[in-house]
Amino acid sequence: MRAEGEALAGVEDAVAYIARLRQAPDKSILPVGRRVVVIGGGNTAIDIAIQTRRLGAEDVTIVYRRGPATMGATGHEQEFAQVNGVRIRHWARPTRLLGSDGRLREVEFQPTALDSAGRLQDSGERYSLAADMLFKAIGQSFMPDPVSAGAGQLLELEKGRLRVDARRATSLDGVFAGGDCIGGGADLTVQAVEDGKQAAHAIDLYLKRR
Ligand SMILES: Cc1cc2nc3c(=O)[nH]c(=O)nc-3n(C[C@H](O)[C@H](O)[C@H](O)COP(=O)(O)OP(=O)(O)OC[C@H]3O[C@@H](n4cnc5c(N)ncnc54)[C@H](O)[C@@H]3O)c2cc1C
Repeated sequence: MRAEGEALAGVEDAVAYIARLRQAPDKSILPVGRRVVVIGGGNTAIDIAIQTRRLGAEDVTIVYRRGPATMGATGHEQEFAQVNGVRIRHWARPTRLLGSDGRLREVEFQPTALDSAGRLQDSGERYSLAADMLFKAIGQSFMPDPVSAGAGQLLELEKGRLRVDARRATSLDGVFAGGDCIGGGADLTVQAVEDGKQAAHAIDLYLKRR
């Protein structure tokens, strides 16, 4: 987030927390704050906000640095969060996380706006929200460096992810890919399953031809 104070207790990564939640046999032992702030605008932000509400948080607010139209979460997901008692505040970014005794107590925000060139700029007076837990749900990115083959040959990328054709074949002969690591995908489970199916058919053909 590039905000001051991210090392305070109570500041969590949303995906890591969701992983713990999904695997916890007894969900009542999971620590959850009373006042929760979620930073992000995608489905992960919606997911963690609803889960923490259901785990007993009294006040859950999602803060997103742009407007509703550019949120990664669909309109349906945004509405679902609001129906579940989650507040969504747009146009602000966290600048400072303030605490006492090493624990998060407050989050300071800088309002944002678009300038005439469409760039995100700071705008207006800063404000604060009380919070004893903050979740970072600001996205994950594909790191292509380890995807090298043979003598350091990298697979070709498209928009920062692996380029594949309709058969899910990559630029490297005999290597197929699917799911979140490919360019142009929907970043959904159903898409990953479809990719797996298409790649399996293509691999079968590839091996039979050999
Ligand atoms: C919080 C959250 C909520 C979501 N909710 C939904 C939802 O409601 N509906 C929906 O359709 N989608 C949802 N998604 C998206 C969905 O989870 C992904 O699109 C889907 O899991 C992609 O599948 P995948 O197989 O490409 O990747 P992943 O499921 O991420 O699987 C990749 C696997 O590879 C492993 N791995 C990584 N690097 C290596 C390595 N070097 N060697 C060996 N293994 C490695 C990882 O540990 C992981 O197990 C959600 C995602 C998140 C984060």
